[in-house]
Amino acid sequence: MPLLSLSFFSSSQGFRQKSVAALANPTLRAALDKAGTGFLNARKKAFDEIENSSSIKARAQQARTRAIDNMAELLLLFERNAQAKGIHVHWAETAEQACAIIIDLCRGKKRIIKGKSMVSEEINLNEALLKNGAEVTETDLGEYIIQLANETPSHIIAPAVHKTRAQIDALFRYHHENIEEAKVADNNPKAQRTSVLLVEEARQKIRDKFLQAEVGITGANMLIATRGAGLLLTNEGNGDLSAIMPQRHIMLAGIEKIIADDGDAAAVLRVLGRSASGQSLGNYMSLYGAQPLQDNGKDLHKDLHKDLHFVLLDNGRSKMHSSAWREMLRCIRCGACLNHCPVYTSVGGHAYGWVYSGPMGKVLTPLLAETSKQTSAQELPHASSFCGRCVEVCPVGIPLTSLMRKLRERDFEKPLQPRGLKTRLACAVMRLLFAHPRLYRFVIACFLRVLKLLARGRGHISYLPTITAWTDTRDLPINRSARSAIASIRTSYPR
Ligand code: SF4
Repeated sequence: MPLLSLSFFSSSQGFRQKSVAALANPTLRAALDKAGTGFLNARKKAFDEIENSSSIKARAQQARTRAIDNMAELLLLFERNAQAKGIHVHWAETAEQACAIIIDLCRGKKRIIKGKSMVSEEINLNEALLKNGAEVTETDLGEYIIQLANETPSHIIAPAVHKTRAQIDALFRYHHENIEEAKVADNNPKAQRTSVLLVEEARQKIRDKFLQAEVGITGANMLIATRGAGLLLTNEGNGDLSAIMPQRHIMLAGIEKIIADDGDAAAVLRVLGRSASGQSLGNYMSLYGAQPLQDNGKDLHKDLHKDLHFVLLDNGRSKMHSSAWREMLRCIRCGACLNHCPVYTSVGGHAYGWVYSGPMGKVLTPLLAETSKQTSAQELPHASSFCGRCVEVCPVGIPLTSLMRKLRERDFEKPLQPRGLKTRLACAVMRLLFAHPRLYRFVIACFLRVLKLLARGRGHISYLPTITAWTDTRDLPINRSARSAIASIRTSYPR
């Protein structure tokens, strides 16, 4: 089975080029359109059904703010409580350290299964394990599909949302052998199969991997400090099978996943499922590292977590904690901002070049990429219409547009890099015009006349060689200059 071998920023192309390619891909657009409306309607219904949705969101925001404000103390409390129960806690400052710790924990073991973990994508764990001779199987259906396709996830909760059923059918037919009943639909081997048949086929394939696995790796939705336990929420139950079936369970989580106690964890759970997929709660919720259940003073399942390891990853998060972007650490990875973003829903997740996409990715990726010494993420905060829908739907009140704006400001404050001859010439002309207002007015008036002639009475032009980035996708209105537009606004809305 091919494994992910793509690096973080999987291509040298930037967001702009990848977006153009995505917009020209009708299959991708069809897949995104279908998934998009489903997520939107489900989320709206889930919040409409409850009376006090705004107070539930406010409580979740309060829980996350408390966690981030007290992050260092809560992490130490988590460590103490986990270690007191014989659970191992490992700290990783960088992606490389996290991979090295996990490779060490997998030494001498070949068969590894994984539940969905975006942090493992962040550190490129599969590739690191593969290089060390391990066989890794993703067990979340979406992750399994993209593993077969040798791709990266395009959405934080629905990794294969960019794939159509026909594509998945073709992928399974190519990779799967010896699958019995589920292989054909209506006794016609060539007919496209239903989702139910495809899921059954994947289940058959993955079941054997659960039985043979030596190590299971999962993420954690939250790390509960007062318990020293990791909370895992899934819809398929694969996370729990990945955790329980092998002898060793590794839970990998970013340090911002810390939460103070059960009450705060419950507050987050009330908004997480609703914001992500419109569910009041995910189908399977488990605590790993919690005290074993007791029956008349006797521990039940006392062997269950005897070899549990938490790997806690920093990878730029503590730097964010002391920066102007600290609020981003409140993110609970629900994906609602992606589903409501007109840019994400048009171009999909791969255009963003990394595991975190959409509005949350536009903030998180440039900040985390600094640690990975990647620079191609710096254009992401500029890829926004600033419509503000992401801010409206974020259940923990992250001011995403303000955070993006701060990143833009930081970019503009950087000294200008030496540019090409055309740019330098244009800057010299603009400097001259701005320094001489009368000349500026004269040149603009002449330019406007030429544009009006080109428009031939239509009021706009559809193509101008020097500004094709604009005219390729929309008309340029030329009925008046920016100066006259501003003057009329000032007349209509005097200060
Ligand atoms: S930024 Fe908000 S809406 Fe977006 S994934 Fe994070 S918590 Fe969800």
